[in-house]
Amino acid sequence: MNVIANEDGCGVLVVGASAAGLATAEALRRKGYRGGLTVLGAEPHLPYDRPPLSKQVLSGAWDPERAHLRPQAALSALDAEFVLADPAVGLDPAARTVHTASGRALRADAVVVATGLRPRTLPGQADLAGVHVLRTLDDALALRADLLASSRLVVVGEGVLGAEIAATAHGMGLEVTMAGPQPAPMTSQVGPLVAGLLAELHTERGVRLRLGAGVSRLSGHRGKVTGVCLDTGEVLPADVVVVAIGADPATGWLASSGLRTDNGLVCDSRCRAAEGIYAVGDVARWHHDRLGVSLRLENRTNAMEQADTVAANILGDDQPYRPVPYFWTDQFDARIQVHGVLPAGAEVTVTDGDLASRRFVALYRHDGRVTGVLGWNMPKQTRLRRQEVVDALPDLAPALR
Ligand SMILES: Cc1cc2nc3c(=O)[nH]c(=O)nc-3n(C[C@H](O)[C@H](O)[C@H](O)COP(=O)(O)OP(=O)(O)OC[C@H]3O[C@@H](n4cnc5c(N)ncnc54)[C@H](O)[C@@H]3O)c2cc1C
Repeated sequence: MNVIANEDGCGVLVVGASAAGLATAEALRRKGYRGGLTVLGAEPHLPYDRPPLSKQVLSGAWDPERAHLRPQAALSALDAEFVLADPAVGLDPAARTVHTASGRALRADAVVVATGLRPRTLPGQADLAGVHVLRTLDDALALRADLLASSRLVVVGEGVLGAEIAATAHGMGLEVTMAGPQPAPMTSQVGPLVAGLLAELHTERGVRLRLGAGVSRLSGHRGKVTGVCLDTGEVLPADVVVVAIGADPATGWLASSGLRTDNGLVCDSRCRAAEGIYAVGDVARWHHDRLGVSLRLENRTNAMEQADTVAANILGDDQPYRPVPYFWTDQFDARIQVHGVLPAGAEVTVTDGDLASRRFVALYRHDGRVTGVLGWNMPKQTRLRRQEVVDALPDLAPALR
């Protein structure tokens, strides 16, 4: 058994070597922590960034190396031990010991769970060649290789990831069809007005939308995918299929830990799941005490911001984590940025620019109160409007329930 802890028995173990895990390790050092630091990762790669995977890495505009979050020299300066390609398989919270697939037992004073998400799949998908998910660098490279050798792609899923993949693959010269139950791309994330504009954008550029119908199954021939069957009976022919129907928190390895998992590792307002056990990033479900609700955010900015709070709390602070949610997405020439929340049924008012020119900022209100701001190719004005969401933060709770 291999036990890693520093000499005085005081060390921090971060499980998950990606955006949130690395940000936690860096925040600890920035705040003056000089003790033992181990970062455990399931993948063989040093930390890399995920947003470029569906954009620059998939299109080939970037070499995969460019997606790495830090150069080797910066990682060396961090003075952390990276244990890679060895997934955690169990956690004993009382002993603060993590067991890994290869048989290591890593003991620490504080354990940070930063294991992110696992993509959902469709029944039978694993038996068919040509069907992909997109979460990891290896997923992106495998999908790219298949797209380069194919002409017809069907994207199952009309959320943020599905819409980004459709846009990128269309730019690579493929015939792309997007399928999913919502009436327009990203309806549940941005509401019907902006989703309608996204539908126009995708259609104008040549992406075929087959929305408003569920996907019943995948069809195949001799172990290779041939199409996607909709509830309506329509079959969408495909050489390649990407399944982008959401992802679930990667908490399976915590099943016997006794910690509470319920759509994420459940934490208090300090992002603490138990004494000495914290969670950060996409996997963390914590209590936003100003909103009075339990939240889990799946975005890049949250991974950074939450890491800062977790590092501070490990070092003895007592900080609640109270972010204003933020995400962005890039599709064709559109950059869409969202601060706050955009609840279903919100009233939408354009405050800057106009919809027709596809440069605008819109405020979302629920029961007359501002809950969020969305900007489409207007980053400066969007940032300025963010303050209205910050001011309204204590009133957001009803919109989140
Ligand atoms: C293709 C793609 C595009 C995206 N685009 C955007 C965007 O445009 N804007 C935006 O705001 N957000 C975007 N996101 C979301 C953003 O990338 C995530 O919110 C962010 O990566 C979360 O970081 P994380 O460290 O919490 O989780 P992850 O990045 O998922 O990292 C978790 C890490 O933990 C590892 N792990 C899992 N299980 C174990 C285990 N048992 N033991 C050890 N390690 C384990 C995983 O291998 C992984 O490396 C995108 C995500 C994807 C997948």
